[in-house]
Amino acid sequence: MSAHEPDYDVIVIGGGGAGLAAAVSAAERGQSVILFESEGELGGSTQLSAGMFTAAETSVQKALGVEDTVDRFFQHYMDLNQWLLKPGLVRRFCELTGPTLEWLLDLGVEVPAQVSPDAHTPGLTRAGVEDVWRAHVPKDQGYGLVQVLDRARKRAGVEAVLHTRVERLLVADGRVRGVVADGVELTAGAVVVASGGLAQDPALVERWFPDALRAGESLFVVAAPGSRGDHLAFGRQVAASVAGEGWGLMLPTAQFVRAHHWQAGFPPRSRVHVNDVGRRFMDEDASYAVSGGQIDAQGGPVWMVFDEAARQALPEGYADWTPGRVTALVEEGQVVRADDLAALAARIDVPADRLAATVERWNDQLPHGSDADFQRDQTLAAKGVTAPLTPIATPPFHATRVLPAELVCTHAGLEIDHNAAVLDERGRPIPGLFAAGEAGGGVLGSRYVGGGNAVANALTLGRLAGQNAASGR
Ligand SMILES: Cc1cc2nc3c(=O)[nH]c(=O)nc-3n(C[C@H](O)[C@H](O)[C@H](O)COP(=O)(O)OP(=O)(O)OC[C@H]3O[C@@H](n4cnc5c(N)ncnc54)[C@H](O)[C@@H]3O)c2cc1C
Repeated sequence: MSAHEPDYDVIVIGGGGAGLAAAVSAAERGQSVILFESEGELGGSTQLSAGMFTAAETSVQKALGVEDTVDRFFQHYMDLNQWLLKPGLVRRFCELTGPTLEWLLDLGVEVPAQVSPDAHTPGLTRAGVEDVWRAHVPKDQGYGLVQVLDRARKRAGVEAVLHTRVERLLVADGRVRGVVADGVELTAGAVVVASGGLAQDPALVERWFPDALRAGESLFVVAAPGSRGDHLAFGRQVAASVAGEGWGLMLPTAQFVRAHHWQAGFPPRSRVHVNDVGRRFMDEDASYAVSGGQIDAQGGPVWMVFDEAARQALPEGYADWTPGRVTALVEEGQVVRADDLAALAARIDVPADRLAATVERWNDQLPHGSDADFQRDQTLAAKGVTAPLTPIATPPFHATRVLPAELVCTHAGLEIDHNAAVLDERGRPIPGLFAAGEAGGGVLGSRYVGGGNAVANALTLGRLAGQNAASGR
């Protein structure tokens, strides 16, 4: 190797979904690639995820007779985000989601052509507020995606170096020329930053996603441990622009929950969410694409109210939502309990007459399969729930606060263009630098376009970054 020849064609920082997709796609173009992963195993948040992948014009949709177009997806994506994102980048994303899903299927990912009622059953589902079903759930979820990509990485001969946190970029003459890891300098034709988000660094959350702190003591983070925001430090080295400031995904939970619902369990179906004036304001099962915003918009505490029959009907086997645990939470002061609705209303400081009227209207509708106000009956039907909901009528009654408290992912990343090239503060591509996934900013917006916005972003932009890093753009 000559003194001027780089050690590798492409260096990838981070071995989650974006990094693996970048490494595999660069290697497919005959490039020499090395990938660094700070943790002891590959996968990052991608491995922890449901693996849900939003995509338009796919073979899975076609097999199920779902008519979809890139134009339709683009319009929905931009409208939901109030056109605060750059249309050029979003259109490229929308165009490439379908081909990226087909690439994953070719590599061995399994998404059977069947309707799925949830984020756990492989197939096509609707977890967001999209007009057309676009959420593709792979077999074995995020773990399955990572396994398939890792096998492709091995087949392509890409070395993955674990336990190695890249410290900084090598920059010379205005071009990124490599990285420093474990004190060793390695040079490359191009570098792809795919180091995930910043959710695990409290100071960076405060700086880049301060809304998350409104959850107070209820805040908990489910993103992978490696989500330390290293991309921002890399970006500072080259005066990169940041996009997505102030945005991220917070899932609503009960105030006492501290784990993703796979471990925490699920609140009773027969429940009503009321604001501080005792009025119902949302479909209690509304998509996470909008439910956090609906709760925030109330401007005051939001309470989930359920009865004793609902508590007793909770299944066992979860950390939080079981009959015994809810009773213990009453003792701990995390759940308020009272013998009648008027006493409950007094305890949570909402007007008793309004809470009574709200529960009465809920009882008149939901147990009979209708919800003229919020159409929850339709959401339940889409989840395959056919059993009627029980009325909220059996004392004692329970209430607990519900708020966006589960921090899933962050959207403040290094601003990228439609080639996944990182832009400087003047909006010009920085030679030799690409970014994707949560580390790349501009695709994930103010509203999470569920289901599967972030995994689709990671794998689609990761693949694009790998292709363009390989072609030396
Ligand atoms: C519980 C959970 C469920 C989710 N479910 C879904 C879902 O179903 N659908 C969806 O769209 N989104 C979902 N998300 C969000 C989604 O999984 C992530 O946004 C996405 O996978 C991020 O991919 P990434 O490649 O950018 O980051 P990651 O997958 O987190 O990968 C980044 C990797 O970089 C490594 N790294 C960090 N810094 C360095 C460094 N300096 N040097 C070397 N390596 C470094 C990290 O350790 C990590 O392995 C979920 C997230 C969680 C936590």
